[in-house]
This record gives sequence, structure tokens and C-alpha cells, in this order.
Amino acid sequence: MGSSVETLEFQAETRQLLQLVIHSIYSNKDIFLRELISNASDALDKLRLESLVDSGLAVDASDPHITLEVDPEARTLTVRDNGIGMTRDEVVELIGTIAKSGTGRLLEKIKEAKDAAAAQNLIGQFGVGFYSAFMVADKVTLRTRRVGTDEGTLWESDGEGTYDIQTVDGLAVGTSVTLHLRPADTEDGLADYLAEWKIRQIVKQYSDFIRWPIRMATGRTDADGAATEDTDTGSMDTLNSMKALWARPRKEVSEAEYNEFYRQISHDLLDPAETIHMHAEGNFEYEALLFIPAQAPFDLFSQETRRGVQLYVKRVFIMDDCEALMPNYLRFVKGVVDAHDLSLNISREILQHDRQIRGVRRHLVKKVLRAVKDMQTKNAEGYTKLWGQFGTVLKEGLLEDPDNTETLLELLSAASTHDAEKTTTLREYVERMKDGQDAIYYLTGETRATVENSPHMEAFAAKGYEVLILTDPVDEVWAERTPAFDGHRFQSIAKGQVDLDEKTDGDEQAEADKARREQDFGALLPWLTTALSDHVKEVRLSSRLTTSAACLVGDAHDMTPTLEKMYRAMGQQIPSVKRILELNPAHPLITALRAAHGADADDPALPEIAELVYGSALLAEGGDLPDPARFSRLLTDRLSSTL
Ligand code: ADP
Ligand code: MG
Repeated sequence: MGSSVETLEFQAETRQLLQLVIHSIYSNKDIFLRELISNASDALDKLRLESLVDSGLAVDASDPHITLEVDPEARTLTVRDNGIGMTRDEVVELIGTIAKSGTGRLLEKIKEAKDAAAAQNLIGQFGVGFYSAFMVADKVTLRTRRVGTDEGTLWESDGEGTYDIQTVDGLAVGTSVTLHLRPADTEDGLADYLAEWKIRQIVKQYSDFIRWPIRMATGRTDADGAATEDTDTGSMDTLNSMKALWARPRKEVSEAEYNEFYRQISHDLLDPAETIHMHAEGNFEYEALLFIPAQAPFDLFSQETRRGVQLYVKRVFIMDDCEALMPNYLRFVKGVVDAHDLSLNISREILQHDRQIRGVRRHLVKKVLRAVKDMQTKNAEGYTKLWGQFGTVLKEGLLEDPDNTETLLELLSAASTHDAEKTTTLREYVERMKDGQDAIYYLTGETRATVENSPHMEAFAAKGYEVLILTDPVDEVWAERTPAFDGHRFQSIAKGQVDLDEKTDGDEQAEADKARREQDFGALLPWLTTALSDHVKEVRLSSRLTTSAACLVGDAHDMTPTLEKMYRAMGQQIPSVKRILELNPAHPLITALRAAHGADADDPALPEIAELVYGSALLAEGGDLPDPARFSRLLTDRLSSTL
């Protein structure tokens, strides 16, 4: 039989780390099973490799698998594998010590850490897999036999300060780890790890895609973990699907399989619009399988929307909603990234700052945008649909992701005065630009109708200039901030001076007309500016109006009224921006006003008419009157006196 028992002390640093793991680090105790299964899976990988390298190895590697065994009476859970196993020396080295460099420094940092979360982040860099067993067990027994050796080793510890180790006979090749479970205690986050449903749930969540079967005798225990009558009639059940599609070569996976997988991870009923499958090699190896859904989820714009990319490490599930891998504006992308060289305990904070992960993210973003771009060139109809679903979110990228501004502008699709039915790309817009036109004209507003009927549009329509009609809230911001597309700046037609009379320079007649008008209005404009000083900062003549009497415009860098409204709706204090009132010098109302002012500058009706002109301009662009009751009264008085 085996040798006598030897009791050894854990190396000091190991002991400290162990205490941290058991008592403070993990809020989620379920992960102990993920860690043990991952170790078992690694052991099976190693055995397979060794049997390939050494064909003379006397071992049966024909059915590599992991079994989970529950003994309700003894209150134990055993994770068993028929993998590579460990020698006695390996057990001492690998399990009794933490044989990684820098443990000491790590512990110092942990002691300095302000709180448990900060400590957990540090641990995340390190990985403390096997020891997580002590979170749920007050005693752990490990039995193992290395392939190619005859002796087995039994290791046992309560995780306090020492462990027992002895040599034993009669073990099969491989390793079993038996946890003597602490009683379930919901307050302490300890579930009933004897319950079949609980084990199934953890395996499904964290280890579903482990490539080796994880088996468990089922029907042996009822929900409470108590043994049922027909102990022997239970059968072995494989708990994991093992179908890690992303790990298979692309040409071996059918479209139906991709779609099925997508529906499984997304809970979507439709097939995806695009599938992106890649395998990156080099110093940071990973696989990615990403999907662009065909339809936007209902909560795409809610605050709680989470990103759809899951992170795996060597097929072990690590986290949902991995924000380090996908920017917010691509939150609709679903899928899986499986990185080979990360710790299972990697935390979100560390991922955010990891240089390699940032590289992965940049690469994935490029891939997704390329897929969208391909759709734009190859599948116009599909692209239009996609833009309809996700265009608004993609435009957020113009604010978030300066690296990809060019690409995003190429993808952008917008309504325009060119075609009432179809949207246009900026590229198409630029191709239609008139000779001498240097800017891309746009107007923002709440609906297509208000934008189209806005007085600002008049001269542009009359002269045949195309104007983009932008009605998403985000348009206000990107159009303002994005400098140019293909060398053409973006110009809001509701801002700044507009001079569409290209030929004014050479045309003496036009020059003379203009000068005469300025002179005619020389007295009215300053008077109006003073009369309306509560509302506008200037009153001037317009060259953008053909039929309306007046309109309001902003200075080049003023905030637009829609944006002002948006900020207010979000509860922000915004000083109100005064704009400029532009008058149409050819409009009968304006010429009459000028005449009346010329005849008697003190006419008491004039200030009220000025207010009406301002109010109508505000109404015409869909704005809110500061005092609607007063406006209405002034208007009715005026109408009654003329009738
Ligand atoms: P990690 O898996 O990150 O190396 P662990 O604490 O989980 O850290 O495991 C420590 C080491 O113990 C492993 O690297 C492995 O060499 C050994 N080990 C753990 N479990 C097994 C097992 N089931 N079979 C063989 N070796 C194992
Ligand atoms: Mg491990």
C-alpha cells in the first residue's frame, strides 16, 4: 500500500494568498467549478499532446473526459479527469507552492490595495485557479497519477497552513479533486453544490464549450441532493455542448451552423445579417466569431444596453458584455472572442488597460466596419436595411472613434433634398455637387417635413443646391464636429452668412442692387436690432429667403436650438443662445415695415410688428414661442385692425 503520510507547510506566500482567496476575493463562488474543469481540460490537452509526441506511451487516450461525481451522504463533489496527472514532486511544486515569479510583489500590492475590488483586480493578473476550491470546501483531497508512472499521490488540505501528502497505489491515470463541501449558505454566496441543477447551470454557463465531454451520473440525486431509491439506474449524461464553432476552421462550418449558434447566443429569432469569423495568430492568439444582427434590439438606446461580445479564455466562459472588446457604438454586434493567453480571473479593469486587448479591439472594429462596407458595395438592399436598423448608432462612432472617421463617413447614409424616397451617401452627394460649391450643405431638425419646409431651405431649393436632411439627435453633434468629408467641409444652412449668388463679383447690376438695398434698410435694421434685443443679437438682410419674410440663423459656432433643447431635456443648464434674424428685403411685409418705419419711426405699432416677425420666423422652423399667449394676442389685434 501507500507510504506514510508526510505533513508539509504551504510556502508562506502561498498561505497568504490562500487566505485571501478563501475569505475576501471572490464574490462569485460558483467559479471554483470553472477553475477545476479548466485544469482538467488542460490535463486532457497535455495528455493528448504527449501521446502524439510519444507513440510508445502506454496509455489509453481513446476516451478523454471529465466526470463530476456527487456523494450526498459524504457531502462531496469530485472533479475527475483521465488526463496527464501529476507526480508527487509536481504536486508539491504545482499545488503546494505558487511557482510563479512575482508572487511576493503581488501580495505586497494586494495589501496596499484599498478594497476587495482592487485586490481582486490584482489577483486577476495572476490566476489562483486551484485554490478557489477552498472557497466552497473545508477540505480538499486530490488524488493523481502521472501517465507513464506507477505511483499515485494523495494530497489533502484544509487550506489552513499545512497539507498532507502520501504515495498511494491503485490509482488510474489522471487526477481527481474531491471537495468536502461547506454547508450551503446563501448569505455567504454558497449555493448547494450537491444539487444537480446547480452543477448543470454552472457547467452550462462557464464550461459549455470545453472541448472534452463533462459527464455526470444523473437521476442519482433529487433536487435537495439526497440520494434517491434507484441509485443504480441513473445514466451518464454529458453536460456541455462542446460545440465551440469559433475554434473550427471556417470552411468546415456551414451557414446553418453559424446561424444556429448566433440564435443560441443572441436569443434572436432571425438569422444574422453578417457573420465574421477570424483566427488571429502571432504573439496574441485569439479566435473571434462575430455577428451583425438583422434587426435592432428594442433596447438599443436604453441606458442599460449591454454590449454583445462575450469573452472566453481557451473555451472557458469569462464574461458577457466585454466592453474592452467592442466600442459602445458597435454595441449591437454579438459574438464571442476566445483569447488563448489570458488568466481566467482577468478583470474588466485590467482588460480595459491591456495593450494587447486594445489591439484586438482595434482589429475587431476594423473587421466589423469592413463587413458593413462590403455590404454597402455588394448588397445595396441589405445595406439600406442595416443602416435603417443601426445607422443612428453607427453615427455615434463619429463622436467616439476618431480613428475610423473616414470609414464611418463613407458608410453614412442620409436623407437629402435630391430624392424624396432614397437616402444618399456622402460620396454620391459630392459627385452631384455644383461647380464652385465647396461645402456639403445640411440642415438639422426634428422631422423631414420641418426641415424641408424650413425658410432656410428656400434659396438652396431655388438655386438647385442639394441639402442633407438630418433628423437624428446625434446628427446635430457629428455634423458640427466633423471637419470635412473628402476635402469638403460640412455647412449648416441655418448658420453663418450665405451667399449663393456666385456671380455677384463680376455682375455690376447685382452689386449695385445689393448696395442700394443696404442703404434702403440702413435705418430699419439697427432700430429692429434694439427693439428685439431680448430675443436676437442682430437683424440683417438675407440672401437665403425667396418666399418667407424672415428666418433665424446662428453664427457659425453657435449651438443649434435642437441641441439646446436636447441638453435641457437631459437636465443640463445651458445659457440660451441668441441668434440672428434675417429679413427678406423683397417680401411685401418687410418692405411695408420699412416704409412705415421711414414715415414715423415712433409709430407705437412698430415694436409689436417686429415681435410678430420674430415669432413667425421661430414658428416656421418648428421652434417654441417664449410667450405663445402674447404672440396670439398681438396677432389677433393686428388682424382685427386690418379687416
Ligand atoms: P493554472 O491552471 O493557472 O496553472 P491552477 O492553480 O489552476 O493554475 O493550477 C496549478 C497547476 O496545477 C496547473 O498549472 C497544473 O500544472 C496543475 N494541475 C492542476 N489541476 C490539474 C489536473 N487536474 N491535472 C493535472 N495537473 C493539474
Ligand atoms: Mg487553472
